[in-house]
Parts: sequence; C-alpha cells; structure tokens
Amino acid sequence: MPTPDTSRQPAQISWTGGAKSKPTPLSPEWRCTRCNKLLGVCRDGRMHLRFARGHEYFVGFPVVATCRGCGTLNQATSPAR
Ligand SMILES: [Zn+2]
Repeated sequence: MPTPDTSRQPAQISWTGGAKSKPTPLSPEWRCTRCNKLLGVCRDGRMHLRFARGHEYFVGFPVVATCRGCGTLNQATSPAR
C-alpha cells in the first residue's frame, strides 16, 4: 500500500564522493528493436559504434545500422536523452 513519504530516513550513503553528480545515469544504449542486441552507445550527442577487432566509430545522427544479430535495420534519429 502506498505510504506518504513524510518519514524520510537520513541520507543513505550509496554514492561515494559525488564530485560528478550523476545519480541515475540514463542508459544511453542503442539496442536493436528486434532482438535487443546492443548496437551502440550514445556519447556526447553522437553514437559510439563498436565493432569487432577494435574498430570503433563515432557518428552523428541520424544513425542507421544493421544489427549483427538478426540483420534488422535500426535507425536512431536523435541522441537518447
Ligand atoms: Zn537484432
């Protein structure tokens, strides 16, 4: 049952330091719409694509890539927020 949040406990220390305040990092992962395979990771407004043998690409939006798992063509039109 829902309880009103009036009795708050003292701040829990789960994040040490806190110099860089990112308590809940949004998952910037770009995943296949069909098989949910990780296709890339959004960084600084661009998509970071990583392939085998150390090939990595930073590409701007929109991004279109074929899933390595199922071959589905995926498109990301804007950075994940
Ligand atoms: Zn896929």
